[in-house]
Amino acid sequence: MACRTQSQSVQSLMVNLPLDNSARPALDQANFPSLEKALKHFFGYDQFRLSQRQVIEDTLQNRDSLVIMPTGGGKSLCYQLPALLKIGVTLVVSPLIALMQDQVEALRDNGIAATFLNSSLSLSELRQREAALLQGQIKLLYVAPERLLSEAFLPLLQQLSQTIGVAAFAIDEAHCVSDWGHDFRPEYRQLRFLRQQYPTVPMLALTATATERVREDIVEQLQLRDPALHVTSFNRQNLYYEVQPKGRQAYAQLLPLIQQQEGTGIIYCLSRRRVDETALRLQQDGIAALPYHAGLSDTTRQENQSRFIRDDVRIMVATVAFGMGINKPDVRFVIHYDLPRSLENYYQESGRAGRDGEAARCTIFLGYGDIATVEYLIDRKPDPREQRIAKQQLRQMIAYAESSVCRRQIQLGYFGEDFAGLCQNCDNCCLPPPIEDWTVEAQKFLSCVARCRERFGMTHIIDVLRGSRKKRLLELKHDQLSTYGIGKDRALDEWRLLGRSLLHQRLVDETTDGYSVLKLNAASWQILRGQLAVQVAITQKLESASAADSSTERDRPPAEVASLLSQLKDLRKRLADEQSVPPYVVFAESSLRQMAQQRPQTLDAFAQISGVGNRKLDQYGKVFTAAIAQFCQEYDLSSDLQPSTAVTQSLTTTHLTTLQFYQQGLTPAEIAVERGLRLSTISDHLARLIEAGQPIELDRLVSSERQQVIQQAIANIGDTPLRELREHLGNTYDYSEIRLVKAAWRKLSQQTTAIAENA
Ligand code: ADP
Ligand code: ZN
Repeated sequence: MACRTQSQSVQSLMVNLPLDNSARPALDQANFPSLEKALKHFFGYDQFRLSQRQVIEDTLQNRDSLVIMPTGGGKSLCYQLPALLKIGVTLVVSPLIALMQDQVEALRDNGIAATFLNSSLSLSELRQREAALLQGQIKLLYVAPERLLSEAFLPLLQQLSQTIGVAAFAIDEAHCVSDWGHDFRPEYRQLRFLRQQYPTVPMLALTATATERVREDIVEQLQLRDPALHVTSFNRQNLYYEVQPKGRQAYAQLLPLIQQQEGTGIIYCLSRRRVDETALRLQQDGIAALPYHAGLSDTTRQENQSRFIRDDVRIMVATVAFGMGINKPDVRFVIHYDLPRSLENYYQESGRAGRDGEAARCTIFLGYGDIATVEYLIDRKPDPREQRIAKQQLRQMIAYAESSVCRRQIQLGYFGEDFAGLCQNCDNCCLPPPIEDWTVEAQKFLSCVARCRERFGMTHIIDVLRGSRKKRLLELKHDQLSTYGIGKDRALDEWRLLGRSLLHQRLVDETTDGYSVLKLNAASWQILRGQLAVQVAITQKLESASAADSSTERDRPPAEVASLLSQLKDLRKRLADEQSVPPYVVFAESSLRQMAQQRPQTLDAFAQISGVGNRKLDQYGKVFTAAIAQFCQEYDLSSDLQPSTAVTQSLTTTHLTTLQFYQQGLTPAEIAVERGLRLSTISDHLARLIEAGQPIELDRLVSSERQQVIQQAIANIGDTPLRELREHLGNTYDYSEIRLVKAAWRKLSQQTTAIAENA
């Protein structure tokens, strides 16, 4: 480990920093007994997330790193914490000015001396900031690549390096160096000069998107030296994925969905017109929504965006022009009102939800009319290669939307990642669609394809089946085919569902030359000959949507928690507005929720809340504890609940992190080592995951013989405390295994009770 152990307490190092150009003594990592202490001190968090600790240790040892983490994974901390522990200034290269300002604001609110240099500053502001830098008052300096490469900046960098020292270079959005990536920026290519000029300064390249090709490009273009590669899973466990079929009255589906939902959300539409229309209708229905698209003036866009970020409005209705570089961690839902163009786009766009790690919902509205629109747009592309790629991407997207298998499995598979088991956090896992036997319908459909001599697409086949009087059909004399009108008993949408399902299951083929003609294959003939049955997943998710709500019903916090939470949110908004910062800069939602659950009334108790670092304690401790105390008095509630009783309601990020490792096949002992936590803590996580119904296989953790003995003990003496169970077992079993078996036993008995109640 890179940090030396020293017994000096963190408290003695507390420095009260004014917000502006604060003087901070150069901190060394030796000042912190452990990295966790430093994490709590500066950022208020108790634990590192996946890979963060390793990246930080590597950076402290001056090793280069390539960090690939999904959005919201916590990349920033990987260079921010080392920056605070190392001597000198850390230079952060970031391509987007808005993002830069957000990050600096959030850092300053944690009392961290950070600043940025970019083209938005006046000359005098620039001079002031440069002076602060040269006096060693700044730990983190954010610059845009243009600025970094400018003639004015290079001497400053040189001077910094000679006087106060340069601790590290962090290159954010590093995929911009590659023309294989999606945001190629030629200036990024020149960043290699940093490596040439400052060969001993460690460099971190960070990105959320990188295929193998882009990865190689980053290492090569930035000339990283023997970099440590840190790749975390792209699985965003806190996101719930679902697809709903879009009816004719799509708005009537959208509105209740938004009304049921708490917090802020983004609604993506394909066209500007649709954005404007939808935003307007929502406003008329009393929902605070604003539009965002490239057709609006720069100022309007800017203003709408910042009103969204500051929680002045709840909903942003936008084209995909919105979102890139938006650092709003508490977006609770993302709805694709129209079908996204590709799975990759979908991953990025839906990924703007729940960056704070809290539960969030991602919904796609699947309308067959939209597919035709997208196809039309694709056909208008001049380049046939581009057309082909776009069509293939669209097909993958449709396949995803129509699929009845775990959504996460498909998404991660698309990024080349194996995902074992079911995620239990998507519609297909939680509400599997009913499967029906549609063999007879399939035979009608396929024989119609045959009668039409395999020369037509799905729309025409369905027209024939349903006995349409379309002119072209009559001209072709297809009304005289034996299959004409034999499918009148089924609706258009049902035939489409069947047709798509057949394609999906490869029970019929479709040409890919742009005409999408249906062709029979060997499986089709087996069906026609009655040798193969056809099962169709009836993806009528409209009912399921209400089923999903009942699960939120179950997770709903008690009334007093909800009520306190809403008061704390108001307080946060007021404090944020006073400082002109977005509310999440004051506190993350998870911190507020923990406060509402635990009701801390003393500063000591308040400091225990995740997200309360030293600076936040000083700045907000008094107001928040006072508000909580007042609330408790008003409602005659007890306070300072023990975290153990208060937080058990729901799983937190730390449990999910353990789950992620477990799903990668690590044993509890390995997870404990990887996370720097105790084995007993990991066992406790796994037990809670079991109780919460997550897919943990007990057999992987406790041998079945031992399980049986422990179960017998529980059956004998009941659900008693672990210690008693252990004694009953003659102290030959350890707490971890008893805890795990007990969790499974509880889960099982819960389920049996539920079944008995429903019976
Ligand atoms: P990224 O840049 O990877 O998209 P961020 O660095 O913006 O993600 O982090 C996403 C959110 O997670 C932020 O709100 C951040 O404060 C929070 N976060 C990061 N690390 C931790 C941690 N160890 N514990 C709790 N929250 C964290
Ligand atoms: Zn799933």
